[in-house]
Formats: sequence, structure tokens, C-alpha cells
Amino acid sequence: MSRINVMQPWLGEEEIAAVTEVLRSGWVAQGPRVAEFERRFAASQQAAHAVATSSCTTALHLALVVAGVRPGDDVVVPSFSFIATANAAVYVGARPVFADVSPVTGNLTAETVREALTPRTTAVIVVDQGGVPVDLDAIREVCDPLDIVVIEDAACGAGSTYRGRPVGAGAEIAAWSFHPRKILTTGEGGMLTTSREDWAARARTLREHAMSVSAADRHASLVSPPESYDEVGFNFRMTDLQAAVGLVQLSRLPEVVARRRELAAVYAKAVAEIDGLRAVADPAWGTSNFQSFWIEVLADYGVDREGLLAALAEAGISARRGIMAAHRQPAYASAGVSLPATEHLTDSTLILPLFHQMSDSEQARVIDVLRGERR
Ligand SMILES: *Cc1c(COP(=O)(O)O)cnc(C)c1O
Repeated sequence: MSRINVMQPWLGEEEIAAVTEVLRSGWVAQGPRVAEFERRFAASQQAAHAVATSSCTTALHLALVVAGVRPGDDVVVPSFSFIATANAAVYVGARPVFADVSPVTGNLTAETVREALTPRTTAVIVVDQGGVPVDLDAIREVCDPLDIVVIEDAACGAGSTYRGRPVGAGAEIAAWSFHPRKILTTGEGGMLTTSREDWAARARTLREHAMSVSAADRHASLVSPPESYDEVGFNFRMTDLQAAVGLVQLSRLPEVVARRRELAAVYAKAVAEIDGLRAVADPAWGTSNFQSFWIEVLADYGVDREGLLAALAEAGISARRGIMAAHRQPAYASAGVSLPATEHLTDSTLILPLFHQMSDSEQARVIDVLRGERR
């Protein structure tokens, strides 16, 4: 019996050709491919500006810096997220303040954000968890009048929509991931998008050691102008090798999302007919790319979450425990908060295999196990 993975990147000959071309060109670091990937990504996400980075984690870090978050500030974040969301706040000397999520969508809401605000809050990082669009407008209605910046962690969000537009399009600033676990991959990689030209310009400089003349511009001229370093920057650059892969992957995004939504619909229909299971679904305000298709194991199902994971493993199927809760990790345990919806979701959900090349018969094998374990 062949193994079914929870996720598998979809890479092919086109990516291989694109990387080969970059290698032959002799320019492998950040250069023309990165610039083109930024232009294309901005266009596809309806963002005014895009700045490529080495990861979503570094894009979040840069976003907090350019948004003016300072040491001693509070940054509201969901605990129900990959730990990088909270870590980004710590990198700028701020304190992550964990807010609870909706037990239905797994995302922050206007209410949970409002409850977590403190007099020191200068930013909120909202997440499109597993691809489910967050209700950004409702949260901005709370934060905008208080001059609190809302940063969208759209690591999982490429191809999801919010009120008829790509997620992130309505955010002042957003961060994206191209890790292989996400919808598009460049191996490692990320992007910062923003509606503000000044923030984009500063992010562009900061990601490249805060150098006043970019490496690409220096290379383009025989006698390079002297560069200056006006502040302490970072090396958060993407390479042209990665961007070449990203350009091919981006061209496939609509096809990838369509197939994922097709597979998700089959799962959703099957789960709806099984007592004791609930599946993630599109919220009223948008559509998910189903980057993570999670199900909640309820009390009236035949086994608990761990039991279902074991049954799937027995059948050669690699599922995953649901999204983590950062506030329960040793790194953040001292926060000492109680987040009932987060704790419930992280304990009772699991992520089912879903990837572009998944065959209908592979999916049927997964569904057979879900049916077999019911009460
Ligand atoms: C994956 C992920 C990240 C980190 O992305 P990297 O590109 O690996 O740094 C951050 N936030 C969320 C919500 C994620 O899912």
C-alpha cells in the first residue's frame, strides 16, 4: 500500500528549466528574476508594491519594522498559528499578546482583537489560517481609529479571496510564505506586499543591509556610485534561483487552487455525512484555497483525534495534528493566558492530506478511514 503524504509540492520540468536558465546566466543572487517575481506577484494579489524576502518570517519582521513597531510595544497575535507569527513581534523587542480565535474559522475576530488590546498596542497581526480568509474589514474598523496597524500574515493565503479580491489586497501590509508546505513554493522564500510606497521603499533597502545602492544596480554600472548605510539593515534577500521557480509556480496558481477546492468539496461532502466530524469551510466573506483542510473530531465520533490519526497512519496515510497553539509552547508559556477556542481547536482538529497531484482514489482511501472509525 503506497503512502499518502499530507502535502506534496507540485514541481516539474518548467521549474527545472527556469533554474537552469538562471544558472547559465551567471547571476544567481537577487536580481532581474526577483524583480520580475515581485511585479507579477503584486499584480496577481492586487497589491501596490511587493518586496521579496528570504521567508515569511523575515517579511513579518520587516513589516513590523517599517510599520514603526518599537521595543516595549504590544503586538496582538493569534496563538493559533505557526510560531513565527508571535516570534516576529519578539524580534523587534515587542511583546506578543495572544488573542483567541473564532471556534468556527480559527481566525482572529473583531471581538477577540478588541479584548486583547492594551494601551501599548501598536500593531495586530491577523492570519488567514490554513488559507481561510480573516474578516479584515471588521478588525480594521476596530484598529484604524486607534492608529493600530493591522499586518496580515497571509503565509497560507495565496489564492484565497476576501470580499471578491485576493486576500491581502485590503491590507496596508501583508506577508507571504513560499515554503513547500504552502500553496506556492520557492524552496524557502517570502514576500511583503504593501499599499504604502514609503514602507515598500524602506523594506527594499532594509532587506539588503540598508545599502543605499542595490547590488543589482552596482553591478549594472562599471563605476558604481559609493553606497551608504543610513541604518542597521538585514540580509533578507531572495535569490534569482528561487524567484525563477516562483514565477513558474505563480503561473500555476489558478489551476492549483481550482484542484484544491475540488478535492476540498469532495472531503466536505463526505464529512457532512459522518456524525462526529466537522470540516473547515469557506466563511461568508470569502473563499479558502484550503492550504490546510482540517477537520474537528467531536465527542460523538467513534474515536478521539489521536485515535483517528492512528487509524489513518495504519492505512498508510500521513495526517497531522491541527494548527499549534503558541501560548502552550515553552517559549511562550510564561504568558500564562487561557484561550478556550484556541485550546479546543488545537486539541480536536487534524489536517487531512490534500495536494495538487492527489488522485481521486487516494482521496477515497482517506475518506474510507473517516467512515470506518465513526461510532
Ligand atoms: C508557514 C507560516 C509562517 C512562516 O513562513 P516561513 O516562510 O516558513 O517563514 C508564518 N506564519 C504562518 C501563519 C505560517 O503558516
